[in-house]
Amino acid sequence: MTSHAQLSSVPEAAPEQAPVLAMHNIRHAYGHHLAVEDVGLEVRQGEVVCLLGPSGCGKTTLLRIVAGLEVLQQGRVDLNGVPIGRPGKAHVPPEKRNVGLAFQDSALFPHLSVLQNVTFGLEALPVRERRRRALELLEQLGMGRYAETYPHMLSGGQQQRVALARALAPAPRLMLLDEPFSSLDARLRDRIRDDTLHVLKKVGAGALLVTHDPEEAMFMADRIALMRDGHIVQMGTPRELYCAPVDPFVVTFFGEVNELEGVVRRGRVDTPVGEVLAPALAEGSRARVMIRPEALRVVALDETPADHHSHVIMAKLLGRTSLLHICAHGAGGREDHLHARVPGVFLPEEGQPITVRLDPSQVFVFPADPGATAGP
Ligand code: ATP
Repeated sequence: MTSHAQLSSVPEAAPEQAPVLAMHNIRHAYGHHLAVEDVGLEVRQGEVVCLLGPSGCGKTTLLRIVAGLEVLQQGRVDLNGVPIGRPGKAHVPPEKRNVGLAFQDSALFPHLSVLQNVTFGLEALPVRERRRRALELLEQLGMGRYAETYPHMLSGGQQQRVALARALAPAPRLMLLDEPFSSLDARLRDRIRDDTLHVLKKVGAGALLVTHDPEEAMFMADRIALMRDGHIVQMGTPRELYCAPVDPFVVTFFGEVNELEGVVRRGRVDTPVGEVLAPALAEGSRARVMIRPEALRVVALDETPADHHSHVIMAKLLGRTSLLHICAHGAGGREDHLHARVPGVFLPEEGQPITVRLDPSQVFVFPADPGATAGP
């Protein structure tokens, strides 16, 4: 929790255009265990950046370094253009960094009402202004009518909203959020995420949010830093990561994919569902073709063709989409079992003959052999 009286602890001499957070060349180890290495990233004012990645990849460590809960070992951290941490230099303590913290287990003060919890960090403001600001935030997060309630009378989701309001109340320029929605059930999580996003955008704070859920990252983030084993693998907009992944890990992290192998001939790889361009791969090399289920366009045929044809093995309705298990027939009698995801209700019978076409924007080709050259 940060108070207005403490804002001056971080010098105000920041250049106008400086990002609210800049991390350079961060390395952090716990004993002999290297948790984070060579990480650099920026968060600009009003921008939501998500640290995304599997468990143990170093997301929380980065957040804790920014918050001042871990002492910086190597690299540099600037808030609003001013260094708050350099190895060997004085360490600005957490409560003097003017950052808002919202963690999964953000505990409220049990003996204070909701309103008192939110006004707690605002001693520097006149009482009336404190109250106005707290009520405004509670209102924005749908908690206005609980102002006089005590934390034990609230559900987990409601407590989470209050914790968020409390973190936002001192108007930090940077919010740090560590899996703040993960303890909530799916429907509540969607609503609180949505409210949080709108409040962050309204107050114009920069935000660094940790999550392991790719959909949450895409929902919340202006930019995503996808991490693996302590490194950032790719940093970009959700669209860049989803539509222009730099390696197979990035492709698979965003959902199920069909994987096929083939050999590059004249800059292309032949698959049972059509040719795929592989201009950056060496002629004759083996290619790993990754096809998102939604890239397969399935058309049912009225008649069974005389030759080998692709057909449906099974079809399941998943709600907004239907999932088709298909057997795709290729040259030389090759058969591949693929999953196709099509919008709405499309449930052809088992054995239904089909043709399958590819949407090339959802197909990615990488070298099958490590060390070879990748291509789009
Ligand atoms: P999760 O999503 O599970 O929270 P994460 O991506 O946030 O994971 P970190 O919590 O940053 O990952 O942990 C990175 C690595 O450092 C992990 O291997 C973890 O076991 C290790 N680690 C984290 N904190 C400590 C600690 N205090 N002492 C020793 N090792 C630690």
